[in-house]
Amino acid sequence: MDHFVYHDGRLMCEDVAVENIAAKVGTPLYLYSANTLRSHYRRIAEAFAELNPTICFSVKSCQNLSVCRVLQAEGSGFDVVSGGELFRALQAGGEPEKIVFAGVGKSDAEIMQAMTSRIGYFNVESEAEMENLIRLARQQGQVVRAALRVNPDVDPRTHRYTSTGKKESKFGVDLERARRFFDTYGRTDAVRLCGIHLHIGSPVNSVEPYVAALTRTLELIDQLATAGFRVEMVDIGGGFGAYYDNDQQVPVAAEYARAIIPLLRGRGLQVVLEPGRSISANAGILLTRVQYLKQSGEKQFVIIDAAMNDLIRPALYEAYHHIWPAKVEEHFIPNHRRGLLSHSAAPAEASGAGKCQTDFGVPAEGMILADVVGPVCESGDFLAKGRALPPVQAGDLLAVFTAGAYGFVMSSNYNSRPRAAEVLVDGSMWRVVRRRESYADLIRGEVD
Ligand SMILES: *Cc1c(COP(=O)(O)O)cnc(C)c1O
Repeated sequence: MDHFVYHDGRLMCEDVAVENIAAKVGTPLYLYSANTLRSHYRRIAEAFAELNPTICFSVKSCQNLSVCRVLQAEGSGFDVVSGGELFRALQAGGEPEKIVFAGVGKSDAEIMQAMTSRIGYFNVESEAEMENLIRLARQQGQVVRAALRVNPDVDPRTHRYTSTGKKESKFGVDLERARRFFDTYGRTDAVRLCGIHLHIGSPVNSVEPYVAALTRTLELIDQLATAGFRVEMVDIGGGFGAYYDNDQQVPVAAEYARAIIPLLRGRGLQVVLEPGRSISANAGILLTRVQYLKQSGEKQFVIIDAAMNDLIRPALYEAYHHIWPAKVEEHFIPNHRRGLLSHSAAPAEASGAGKCQTDFGVPAEGMILADVVGPVCESGDFLAKGRALPPVQAGDLLAVFTAGAYGFVMSSNYNSRPRAAEVLVDGSMWRVVRRRESYADLIRGEVD
């Protein structure tokens, strides 16, 4: 699952005690495990090996250059959704032909930047965008490759803010319209329309929505073939789940692969995958210190130095993040985070099997029930509500788990809070890969 386990009651990231890093770098602090990134990438690559897929890590899930470089070194390409992300992917050493570019609102400047960089595929989301892409490609005298993003109208059964594959979504076009799209643009010289892209939502914690979406998409590809349009590439997007230490069952890469591979086997399609969360979520934690304890009526608050500006997922999606002290008595260590796991050993498999009674909000003897909140002036500023925790005191270090995806990338300077530092751990080595912002950073760019 990941490389964050307790050793002698102290939380380790690979071979380093997280407390030692927090003491040097301060909090709040994002901490990433290079070997967790690698093992997640390899699990997906191995699970889908039969299809020889191009794996394009979704930059928007965790964009730090050093994180991208770890994956680049594994052979990963990149899925980008803006010119800024394309810039990052290239800075990280990304091979242009393994970069795919999605997004409903690509600007002329972004399209030009991507053409100049000679990326692999434009994932086109509308007729208007296609017209614009054709115009710019002709103007440049360049031939580019495009995949049409389709919307197979399946319900990924995820949060309504992260569902993207339903018919009334702003993303892609529906299957009926896709046929007309190929009639109109399938024989355009400057833009070779030769792929189909889908990304149905995130996280999709079951295999059925993929099977349903792909089945419909393959029917479309067959109909297009009959009409004389050869689709060479299918990009099945991202959305694979990650284990958030709650009681939700999440398929592992091999289970997604077992359902998906039979559908694509023998079709001669180039397959692209765009995993984000399933690689980066478990690879990062947010470290924060308890500032104060406060009792209001019956309610216990644990006030920490991280806030919604650092990790907005609980406020935005009602997302669950497991929060646990970095130093705890032996009997409070959740079973699946026990052990002497060295980073070279195989990490425990993600499943609910290792859970103990203290994991899921049921207070055991000697525990407290508290809201874990930050200093931002919003009632929505919480990281957990009604959460069972071992007793904590001001100054204690807490780990917010599974924070590697959509964590730092969604952070802001709200309340003029400098953004957190980011650290990458690799075995027994660690280094700051983004320094903590200063007050000077906060006003940089402001003009008198
Ligand atoms: C966000 C996104 C992804 C990655 O989603 P995850 O759930 O993080 O795997 C992949 N493709 C596209 C087009 C996206 O917008």
